[in-house]
Order: sequence, then C-alpha cells, then structure tokens
Amino acid sequence: MFDVVVIGGNLAGATAAINAAEIGASAVLVERNKEPFSQAHCGEMLIDTEAELLNLDKIGCAKNEINTIKINISSKEKTFKLKTRRIIIFDRNFVEKRLLKEAEKSGVKLMLGIHMRDFKPPHEIILDNNEIIKGKIIIDASGIACQVGRRVGLDTKLKPKSIGVCIQSRVQSNFDANIIKSWFHKPYAPFGYAWLFPLNEKIANIGLGVPGGQKLDLAKLLKSYINDMTNGKYKINSTFRACVPSAPPMNRLIKDNVLITGDAARLAHPLSGGGIRNALFSGSLAGIIAAKYSLGEISSLEPYQDTMQTKILRLGKEYNFKCKISKNEDIFLRNFGMAISTICLIHRLFPNFLERLFTKFSERDKLILESYKESPFILK
Ligand SMILES: Cc1cc2nc3c(=O)[nH]c(=O)nc-3n(C[C@H](O)[C@H](O)[C@H](O)COP(=O)(O)OP(=O)(O)OC[C@H]3O[C@@H](n4cnc5c(N)ncnc54)[C@H](O)[C@@H]3O)c2cc1C
Repeated sequence: MFDVVVIGGNLAGATAAINAAEIGASAVLVERNKEPFSQAHCGEMLIDTEAELLNLDKIGCAKNEINTIKINISSKEKTFKLKTRRIIIFDRNFVEKRLLKEAEKSGVKLMLGIHMRDFKPPHEIILDNNEIIKGKIIIDASGIACQVGRRVGLDTKLKPKSIGVCIQSRVQSNFDANIIKSWFHKPYAPFGYAWLFPLNEKIANIGLGVPGGQKLDLAKLLKSYINDMTNGKYKINSTFRACVPSAPPMNRLIKDNVLITGDAARLAHPLSGGGIRNALFSGSLAGIIAAKYSLGEISSLEPYQDTMQTKILRLGKEYNFKCKISKNEDIFLRNFGMAISTICLIHRLFPNFLERLFTKFSERDKLILESYKESPFILK
C-alpha cells in the first residue's frame, strides 16, 4: 500500500506528489495522458509573484514579462500599467514536463497514460488495465471532473453557468509584446471575456471563455476576435477547447482519507478563471499534509481544511459577486464597469497598493508552506 496516491498529473497533482515524496512518503501518481499537451490548455498567464514557487528563471522556462493591461468593456477601454510587478506569459508545457521529471527524481512512481476507472473507498484505485493500487491517503487532482470526489459522494455536479467554456488558439501575427488585452462581454464573449496574451512579438494565445448554457458558436466568436485584434493578418497554429470551473469552491476539501485539490475543488477564480496559483498551493499543501499524516507526524488531515478555509471564503465571496452582476446585461455592464474603474482609480491614487496586495497574497502562501516544510519551491 502506498502512503499517498495522486489522481491527475497536472499542476495540482504533480505538485502534491513531489511534496509528499520530499517529506518521505511513498507516492504514486496516475495520469491518463502519456505526456502533457504540447500546447498547454491554458492562457499561461500569471502575476510574477504567483510564479515564484515554480522558480521559472532558475529552470530556464521561456516567459514574456508584461506591464500593460488593456481592458475593454462594451467598447470602453481602460489601460492599467503595473509599476513594480509584471504579468508573465510562460511556457506551461515546459513547466508541466519539468514537474513530472521532478516528481520522478523525488521518488514518485509515475503511471502515465493510465486512467483511473474507479475508486473503491477507502483505499482501492482501479485502473483501466484492471490493475488495483492502494493508498492510505488519496489526493484528487483530476481537474474539473473531480473523479475521486464524485465516487466518495461529494456533490461534484456543476450547473452549466458555473462552467467556463473556453476556446483558445495559438496565433501568429504582429503583436505588442508588452500589452495584454481583454475584452469583456459582447460582441465576442457574452457574460465572459476574450483575451490576447502575447508570448512575444509574433505569437499570442488568443481565446475566450463564457458561462456555459448559452447557445453560442465559440469558433465563430473567436475568429472574429482574432480578426479584429490582428487587422485580419494572422495564421492559426493550433486551437483547443477546454473548461474551467466558475463555481463556488467546495466547502469541505476532505472526505475520510481523500483530499481534493485544484480545479477538482473548484479553486479557480470564479471571475477570471485563473486557477494556476491555487492549484500549485493546494496541491503542495495537500501533498505535505497527506505525507505527514501517513507517516504519523500529525494526527489528522484537518490542517489542510483549516489552512484552505481563508481561500474558500474569499472565492465564495467572489462567486457571489459574479452571480450578482451576471443577472442581466445592464447590471453586468454597470457593475463590471464600476469595478474596473474603481480598480484603475485606486491604482492611480495609490500606485503601489494593488501590487503590494498581489505580493502579500503570494508571500502569505509561501510562508504557510514554509511553516510545514523547509523549502516551499516546487521546482529547483
Ligand atoms: C482555456 C483556459 C485558459 C486558462 N488560462 C489560465 C491562465 O492564463 N492563468 C491561470 O491561472 N489559470 C488559467 N486557467 C485555469 C488553469 O488552467 C486551471 O485552473 C489549472 O490547470 C488547474 O490545475 P489542476 O491540476 O487542478 O487541474 P488540470 O490541469 O485540469 O489537471 C487535471 C489532470 O487530471 C487528469 N485526469 C483527469 N481524470 C483522470 C483519471 N480518471 N485518471 C487519471 N488522470 C486523470 C487530466 O488528464 C489532467 O492532466 C485556464 C483554463 C482554461 C480552460
């Protein structure tokens, strides 16, 4: 029997497995894909402080640093310039591959290209080749489907409007590599937003995400956004569709010997869909707590729930705000417009306030992990 079995080998899962193994637990990671998607299913955007745990410079990950954000709501454009912090667009595929290598180096048994077919609580994971593996603690890092959580009776159903339905292309054209653009609501992304994240002057991730349940031709909307952002001069390298939870986080992230992390726990930001930071944090924390518990160093898994509680409450409030402003078009435009104008005003009057806030949140995450484990960096 393994101390820790992790289902899902992307950000939350690999991070959990690495941390569990580094603490000294025997860990296995089951991932249905043989290797990470060559174009990561992601906009690949983070604030620089949020990326710290990944040590991007040290591991030689390609990234573009950006200080200007243009936000468009109903054709009114606001420009937001960061003073000290940077938005980064990074090569997530490189990071995903490095995470799996790091896991292997830390002693994690990797089972790639293998699908968890079923889970028999409390310990048995049944794989699609009928092999059974057993774990004292099971970590669900299976993304939006929450595969283990579903089998232990958690309410994992999402209403269509609580799913961000996305489409994104890797586009070749001429871009200003120092500007990210986003466009809220119509004409491109009703009740959602479209984005243009440049990797450099020639390549950008251009995509859009909208609440599910609307009858929309996403491919057509994306084509018109790409066309308008590039004056019709572009070439598409690749396109994918994917979903992100746009739901309130789960209230309980522990059920018996199962810990839920990342998108499986609905920890992506309900308004922006940004989930990398919380996937890395919750995955790391779950791995550490699961390992310490299975090795007898702590007497309960509850420190995971207790530590995540602040994030759960904050994401819950943000979800309620999203519901309030999404009632109809007028309310959406008025409230979203007001929220963005307020943020821009605060930034103009108190230039360092928001950037200090970003730094504070990331530093707090790092300090929490440090309180459980000496070096919180996931990639070294
Ligand atoms: C289009 C798009 C753009 C995004 N852009 C950004 C962005 O710019 N910035 C940001 O912060 N966030 C972004 N996000 C959100 C971010 O990608 C997710 O929050 C993040 O990937 C969550 O990581 P995770 O490890 O929890 O889940 P996932 O990345 O979904 O990983 C789950 C893993 O589990 C595996 N799996 C599932 N079921 C099984 C099974 N039964 N057996 C074995 N393996 C299984 C899957 O193959 C997958 O590898 C975006 C999301 C989308 C859809």
